Parts: sequence; structure tokens; C-alpha cells
Amino acid sequence: MTYAIIIVALLLLAAAFILIRTVMFARSSDQAYPTFESSVPELELDPLIPATHLSTVVQIETISHEDSTKNVAAHFRELHARLEEMYPLVHKTLTRELIDNYSLLYTWKGRNPALEPVAFMAHQDVVPADSHTLDQWTYPPFSGKIADGYIWGRGTQDIKCQMIAVLDAIENLLKNKFQPERTVILAFGHDEEVLGTGAVKVVKHLQEKGIHLQAVLDEGGCVYDGIIPGIKGYAATIGVAEKGYLSLRFKVEAKGGHSSTPTRETAIGILCRAIDRLQAHPFPYRVKAVLPMFKGLSPVAAPVMQIAFANLWLFRGIIRRRLASDPETAASIHTTIAPTIIHGGVKDNVLPGLAEAVVNFRILPGESIASVCERVRKIIDDERVSFEPVAGTSREPSPVSDTDCTNYRHLAALNDEFFNGAVSAPYVMLGGTDAYHFTEISSRVYRYSPCVMNKEDLEGVHGINERLSVDALAIMVKYFYNLIQRWGTKEESDY
Ligand SMILES: [Zn+2]
Repeated sequence: MTYAIIIVALLLLAAAFILIRTVMFARSSDQAYPTFESSVPELELDPLIPATHLSTVVQIETISHEDSTKNVAAHFRELHARLEEMYPLVHKTLTRELIDNYSLLYTWKGRNPALEPVAFMAHQDVVPADSHTLDQWTYPPFSGKIADGYIWGRGTQDIKCQMIAVLDAIENLLKNKFQPERTVILAFGHDEEVLGTGAVKVVKHLQEKGIHLQAVLDEGGCVYDGIIPGIKGYAATIGVAEKGYLSLRFKVEAKGGHSSTPTRETAIGILCRAIDRLQAHPFPYRVKAVLPMFKGLSPVAAPVMQIAFANLWLFRGIIRRRLASDPETAASIHTTIAPTIIHGGVKDNVLPGLAEAVVNFRILPGESIASVCERVRKIIDDERVSFEPVAGTSREPSPVSDTDCTNYRHLAALNDEFFNGAVSAPYVMLGGTDAYHFTEISSRVYRYSPCVMNKEDLEGVHGINERLSVDALAIMVKYFYNLIQRWGTKEESDY
């Protein structure tokens, strides 16, 4: 009997401990929103104005190519000319520089030149529309058609919308005679989709001028509506880091010969075994990598998720297994391994003298190109297999941007205000953006678009029927109208 009482008491104690930790975990996500008093009137906006602007730029086929000589100069020039026409005040007040031929860099001088500038980014270029799918588009991909409450076409979501929203916001701020205290920089690259040189050169240009940025906002996460499992309501996910990128070329050289008298292993066999060994030893799963995200989302997470994440000491194993079981969530908690290319052999009756393969790794922040190579060497443990990075493709994981700062809190405050009490949470982006290069001149680089996306909307990005609702674009303009004022002010830390 006494034993039973002790066991019940211990269980109750454990339950209480779990509960207390859960409450504390949810509380720790509470961020006090900074107060802000605007000095300009609230924005009265006819949503059709930005919609028409977006439609105009979508009709210009600014497709970027890996071979930059294929970029059509006339298209980028035309885009620049249209922007000049549509935003007369912006072009009268801000200085504009062309970097790397087509990347746009605008500078809006602040009242206090001693303050570090803030930057708003987007890219002018788009991906092509797959010619096999053209008949599946409701309106052609470069029509910019405004119909059924949407603007249709390439760039409406990725990401001409953000460029237009920022420019419309500033045009209206200028109409209302606003000048920021802090200098505001706009950087619209021209080759983000091909990981080109535009943003690299913009950053170099800013570095040469000795500019360090207080904060940067570029495309990335958005407000997810019912996409994250276990999360109710809107979740505004803000990219604070990007995974690194590494492709390794593996090589096995062997004596050739006739296949009637094969050696015990051929070059192909040795290479395949190495790759198999790699895949059998995935990089360790780090639940901690997504903890800040779940902390941010905990106010709207299902109770079972709240309990689990608040009590990693007990549930780490279960969470790890759950996240690792799905490729998407697995990629967010470890460095991934993907063999993507393999070559070897020339004829069916000849032993191959050479076998080669390329394996692509996406590196989780906290690891590095060197640590990945070291681990690969140990796992393969075969001197006959050599490997080296594919030239010009690798990049280290980005640094992780600060979230305990006013710039981040302003984003969270506006997300709450504009999106029905949406909670904000930081996350690590699986893909890359131009913002990566800006981490060299700022420790607060955020990747986020103030726009609600559901599952269907997401399919349009690089896919069929890319479109953005006229209302969603108007909200983006209003969001930036507010954010530029907030980020453009002096902060306590500046005093
Ligand atoms: Zn993009």
C-alpha cells in the first residue's frame, strides 16, 4: 500500500514538473512588442494601384540565366524605366545606382547619418515558366492579368510583389513628407534565382563605402495558414539563417581490363559501396535546431506539442523520430546527404578505369564544410576513394541572426497587428537567398514576406498559376509603410 502511494506521488510530481516546464516554455516565447507612434497619417490605399504596378512589372520577362550573357538587357532596362515612371517621388528623392549592370541599389538618406542604415531587399528576376505546362495556366505566366481578385503571373509571389510593396510604401511615405531618421537602403538583385553575382557585388559596393547595416529584410518565410502540422491559426515564420551548400565529387580510379577476368571489386563497386556507407550513416539529428521555432509557435501549438518541446529531457527521442521520419522536417534538423550524379564505365565488357559521383550536402548551422569533409572521410574509410568539393558551388551555413532585438520585435509586432494575432517564430531556411551575402555586413538579416500562404498558394511558386491576391498585396504595402517607419527610427540602443 505504502509503495503504491509513493509511486502515485512520484507520478504526480513528474506530471507537475512537466506541466510547470510547459507553462514556462510558452511564457519564454512571449516577446514584449515595442511601442511605436507614427508621425504620418495612416495609409489610405486603393488596392488597385499597387496591383497595377505589380501587373506592369510581371509583364516584363526578367528571367535570369546561369550564363549571364543570356540575360536580356532590354528587359531589365525596361523594368527600370517602368519603375521610374510609376514611382516619381522615389526617383526624385532616393539616389539610384546600378550595380553589376542590372542590380538596383537605392539610398534614402536619413536625417541622422550617424545611425547605421537598414535595408529592404527583393529580386527583379524570375524563373521561366515550364513550356510543357503553359496550357495549365489560367492566364499566361507573363500576362500580369488582374482578374478574379488576383494578379496572375511569374513574380507575383516570388518576389516582384515585395519590390513593388516596398516601393509603393515609400512613394506614399514621401507623399506624406516622411523622412526616416536612419538611412534606408533598397537592394533589388537581378540574378537571385541562379545564385548570381548581383547581391555579391552590391555587398562589396556597400563594404567599400564602409557601410554596416543595422538590419536587413529579404524574401524567405511568410505567414503560413494551416501548413505546419500541430499549429492552429497563422504562423509567421522568419528566416534567421540558411543552411550551407556543398557538393563533393568522389572519384575511384582502378586498373581497366577485360570483364571476363574481373578483379574482386571494380571502380564502380568501390564507389557504390562508399556512397552506400555514407547514406547508411546520416548526420546526427539535432532537435535543438528547431527549438527556437517551436518556442515561438508554442502559444498556438497543440497541447501535446507544447508539452513535448518543453520537456525535451523526456521526449527528445520521440520528437527526433517524428521529425526524422519526414524528408522536409528531417532536413531542418540535420545535414542532408543526396547522391545526385554518377558516371562510370564505357562498354559492357570493359572494366571501368574510372568511376565518379557527386553527392550534395546541405549543411546545418553549427557544422561546416570542413567538419562535413572530415566526417565523410571517416565514414568512407577507404583510401581508394578520393573526393573534393565541386568548384564554385560551396558555401558555409550562414550565421544565425539575432532575435533578441528591437528589429525582430518590430516584425513580430506587425505580424500580430496585420495578421489576426499571428505568432512569429524564427527558422532555418533550407534553400538560399541573396540575403546570405548581407550577413557579411549585418548581424540582423531576416528572410520574410508579410503575406499569408496556404498549401495551394505555395504550389504557385516556381510552379503553375503563380498569383497573388490584390488584397494581399495591399496588406504588404501597408505592412512596409509601417515597418519602414519603425525600422527607420532611432532606438534606445543608439543613445
Ligand atoms: Zn525568390
